[in-house]
Amino acid sequence: MTELQTAKANIGVVGLAVMGSNLARNLASREGNSVAVYNRSPERTELLTSEHPEANFIASTTIDDFVASLTKPRTAIIMVQAGKGTDAVISQLAERFEPGDIIVDGGNALFTDTLRREKDVSAKGIHFVGAGISGGEEGALKGPSIMPGGSAESYKTLGPILSSIAAIAEGEPCVTHVGTDGAGHFVKMIHNGIEYADMQLIAEAYDILRHAGGFTPAEIADIFTEWNKGELESFLIEITAEILKQVDAKTGKPFVDVVLDQAGSKGTGVWTVQTALNLGTPVSGIAEAVFARSLSSQAEQRSGAGNLAAATKQWPIEDRAAFVEDVRRALYASKIVAYAQGFDAIRAGAAEYNWNIDLGAVSKIWRGGCIIRAQFLNRIADAYATNPNLLSLLFDGYFVEAVTRSVDAWRSVVAHSALAGIPVPAFGSSLSYYDGLRSPRLPAALVQGQRDFFGAHTYKRVDLPGTFHTLWSGDRTEVEAEPSTH
Ligand code: NAP
Repeated sequence: MTELQTAKANIGVVGLAVMGSNLARNLASREGNSVAVYNRSPERTELLTSEHPEANFIASTTIDDFVASLTKPRTAIIMVQAGKGTDAVISQLAERFEPGDIIVDGGNALFTDTLRREKDVSAKGIHFVGAGISGGEEGALKGPSIMPGGSAESYKTLGPILSSIAAIAEGEPCVTHVGTDGAGHFVKMIHNGIEYADMQLIAEAYDILRHAGGFTPAEIADIFTEWNKGELESFLIEITAEILKQVDAKTGKPFVDVVLDQAGSKGTGVWTVQTALNLGTPVSGIAEAVFARSLSSQAEQRSGAGNLAAATKQWPIEDRAAFVEDVRRALYASKIVAYAQGFDAIRAGAAEYNWNIDLGAVSKIWRGGCIIRAQFLNRIADAYATNPNLLSLLFDGYFVEAVTRSVDAWRSVVAHSALAGIPVPAFGSSLSYYDGLRSPRLPAALVQGQRDFFGAHTYKRVDLPGTFHTLWSGDRTEVEAEPSTH
């Protein structure tokens, strides 16, 4: 900050690569905000301020000047490389900020890192807010979905600022105080996990239409465009139609046929599954989506599998319109399961980490700005408005009706895919989860017997209280036992 620059900013952004620059521009474009900016390398700061004089940024070349350019309570959003970069900037700010000031990490942090950072920073009386920001570069510029954690007190200052830049869905800004400390980054992680499942389910629907139905990518684009007018309406369905329409300029082939079929990932799907495994909450649709990407990338194994026995049966399709409708219904039912599992994981995380998370509010802030934005999220909000303690989305009246309407088609699609040798891990696992959930008796009883047989892990009976063990290597009588600890 030069001596002439005495203006102060109500909000600052540290880290001016693509995400930080766009977020700073978004902030500056909203009335009431004055934005301070700082980047470790001054070149990025110069580039941003010279390209966007209209933003009237208050730019600093040192962290001291940046801190001095903020009004109190000082509020700074960090948008730097996740991991060590974030830790470095947090410690620079925490050394200079005063109690009551607010440090926001808007990067893609693992929520357990946010828990650690919040503990360290709040010990100094400074607020630390891990804020999940979804929507990529464009969202950062035009309006993302924002999932802030941290203290309720910090949200009094931060809430209006974040509301000013968030996407708007049906008149409401896509931001809510998700919960304390790491709740925001946790919910952002689950959002990304659901995104993995949603994308995989759409990909499986495409694969069935293409390989069982014989539709061309352009025809499937039209089918998706049609689906986007109904209950499946969503950003992901919309962009899928666009991608399938695309023709490769070099070869004249459909774009989807010239792209290497090995899906990458940046790790948030893996985090979701690892976290859900630790919490003991089944997110099988998300897990299958992550594993499907892993399998796709195992080029060597796949190239060695060409001679494995293929399916010998064709999918008998008499009515092509009815076949397409069956696939649509299977997709919708599987999608409902994926979201039900994601919201279950949020409930489980909230119970584990003492967060009071309003699941209906979460579904509402995902209606705009983020990758999984969809009409469907209104139905989820309605479900939690009707019953905030809903045990599973699958029990809500609307979803019961939607799945009941689709379940025969769903079973038929999964069964015929198996017979025709089309891999549908997410469709199939979603259906199995559904059947597992509704089964009055599960074979888990037999698993308990096996565990007791080889490891004396004990079991409970359906008809008596207490814990039991059978003397399998002796006379096989049953004895009362201490509950197993392993
Ligand atoms: P990035 O490439 O992840 O990081 C580059 C920025 O980090 C630069 O400003 C760089 O400063 C700074 N940086 C790195 N190490 C630093 C250190 N030790 N000290 C100070 N600054 C340091 O940037 P990005 O792609 O804009 O992403 C920013 C954050 O947003 C990341 O956490 C990323 O994961 C997240 N992100 C989110 C989305 C989304 O959709 N929500 C999309 C993309 C990224 P220099 O210029 O000095 O090198």
